[in-house]
Amino acid sequence: MQAQQIWLRIRGGRLREVFPHDGEVVVETEERIERYPGCWAFPGFVDAHGHVVFYGLELGQPSLRSCRSAEECVEVLRSWAPNRGEWLLGGGWDQEAWTSAEFPSAELLDAVFPDIPVALRRTDGHALWVNSEALRRAHIQDDTPDPPSGLIVRTATGKPTGVLIDAAAELVLRCIPAPSSEEIRQAIRRATAQLLRFGITEVHDMDVDPCWVPVFEELARAGQLPLRIQSYVRAQHGEWDVAGLLPTTGEFFQLRGVKFYADGALGSYGAALLEPYSDKVGHQGFLFFNAETLKEAILAALEVGWHIAVHAIGDAANRQVAQVFHALRLRGIDTTEQRLRVEHTQIVHPDDIPILAEAGCVASVQPLHCVHDAPMARRRLGNQRRSIPYPWRSLLAAGVPIAAGSDFPIEPPNVLAGVAAFCLRRPFGEVAPWIPEESLELEEAFAAYTNWAHYAAAVDDRRGLLLPGYDADVVIVDRNPGACLPEEVSNVRIVAVYVAGVRRWSTEDTRVPA
Ligand SMILES: [Zn+2]
Repeated sequence: MQAQQIWLRIRGGRLREVFPHDGEVVVETEERIERYPGCWAFPGFVDAHGHVVFYGLELGQPSLRSCRSAEECVEVLRSWAPNRGEWLLGGGWDQEAWTSAEFPSAELLDAVFPDIPVALRRTDGHALWVNSEALRRAHIQDDTPDPPSGLIVRTATGKPTGVLIDAAAELVLRCIPAPSSEEIRQAIRRATAQLLRFGITEVHDMDVDPCWVPVFEELARAGQLPLRIQSYVRAQHGEWDVAGLLPTTGEFFQLRGVKFYADGALGSYGAALLEPYSDKVGHQGFLFFNAETLKEAILAALEVGWHIAVHAIGDAANRQVAQVFHALRLRGIDTTEQRLRVEHTQIVHPDDIPILAEAGCVASVQPLHCVHDAPMARRRLGNQRRSIPYPWRSLLAAGVPIAAGSDFPIEPPNVLAGVAAFCLRRPFGEVAPWIPEESLELEEAFAAYTNWAHYAAAVDDRRGLLLPGYDADVVIVDRNPGACLPEEVSNVRIVAVYVAGVRRWSTEDTRVPA
């Protein structure tokens, strides 16, 4: 995938004709001609794995992302009042980025918030830091057992510390009032306005709560979604079925697939590994399903027409999903009609890569996770395992297509930073690349954010290329990334973004997202 200088003739939201055009990009619609001298055009970028509502909600809550200690988090929170009923919610903390690298405690929060409940998501969404009032409301005490697939972190004497991992976080989360429809609407508006600024014209929105769907549908009907959303509805406990949802079609909003979790995340020791964690003796994480149950749940979803996305981080989870997908393929599932996606595909044993390929599935990967999490991943994994972390080149070489995303709000939805991460695999703050043989070429990295990503949602026959008949989703940039070194790609500026032939954002646009 290369940037082009091109004349785009758009009619009815689609590319009618395209001509090579030296020195500029020209966008010609029924109403006007817009010229971008010196600029280059790509098909609109896709973020193939994000969380629109959580991103939008987080944009309206305290962010602990840049904090370097638990104390600094508390300082940021000090000026905030409850933002959801009586609760104060926030997120983005990451003990791995702190000088102490240790989990925080409830006491720190209690000193400032003795009376109101506080709940703060870890950056990966797989752990929750809460104060004592939140523990009290969730009835979590010394003798509360760990729920299956979850962990209440405790002191040596068995007292809950205030950090809850995976299913244990649910004990608190279910006590927090759900956001109102109006809050969801505002969150979607904030998120989509922000996504456009990164050149994103389409999102694969993962783990969508069925009660958000009417809000998305209403915004789509009113023409108020500025970009396209392929929605993958929650399926872990059959939520799509309970809510009576089925796949839909639509230009800007489609219920496309369902999303399962095979395991948790590496940062919070929830990812399921074939061998124990190198920095936590005897612990291998959790598989959330046995293979047969997962297969049956996926079959039920396939039968009514859903595409399938399954989160798998650890090598044990990737093995389970590879085998389940492979078994489904042997049963005659047509992956040209209904895609089978592995979300994250993060740590994969080399034996399982050909199985993923034979199963006909797509790997949905997040390059910024690799460069951000490398120091933590190296501690968790040690250097004795055969499994490959972030095995992009190995997957491609075996014939597994790659779709790229950011997992926003966990990482920023910054496509150009993602492209650089694909090519350089250089962990933040380090000079040397990490496992450089797994990096991608620049053209492959852009393909993973454009036509390969559209392949993952099976809309690649009408989006992802600048060709006549394709949807006029276009991003215009200020220079040719193909002439840049990978180190320079992050300096490329997004100039304008078109979805369905309408300019949705440009550098002239000074609107601040509501
Ligand atoms: Zn995610």
